[in-house]
Amino acid sequence: MKVHGQCHCGDIRFEAEVDPANARICHCTDCQTMSGSAFRTGISAPAETLRMISGTPVRYIKTADSGIQRAHMFCGRCGSPVFSSAIDENPTRYQLRIGMLKERHELVPKAQIWTKSEQHWLGEIADFPATETQ
Ligand SMILES: [Zn+2]
Ligand SMILES: [Zn+2]
Repeated sequence: MKVHGQCHCGDIRFEAEVDPANARICHCTDCQTMSGSAFRTGISAPAETLRMISGTPVRYIKTADSGIQRAHMFCGRCGSPVFSSAIDENPTRYQLRIGMLKERHELVPKAQIWTKSEQHWLGEIADFPATETQ
């Protein structure tokens, strides 16, 4: 399916093709730090389907404990995470951040990785007091 990405300020806009079956959650501590949240949701898109409509994301090269490096792209103005890829000049896939896709409600995660660093309270949130708005 086609997805449309836009950062919070609107400088970065793109579209891509994804297979909804690839939507997943990552609980790794890097995703927690870089998303500022408990976990990150992402979906991979073949590089040839990615079309930038506006803006040029800022690139940050992250080195994992394993030594593997990945390029993380974000908006230089509003800081929204946009996508990540291998550091090659011509990566084959991009890992899109589901939270900035217009179709986010249709992209239900089908798997989760790095559960060893999952926040221990996640399984309990259905029981938390909840209000529909602030
Ligand atoms: Zn922005
Ligand atoms: Zn992660």
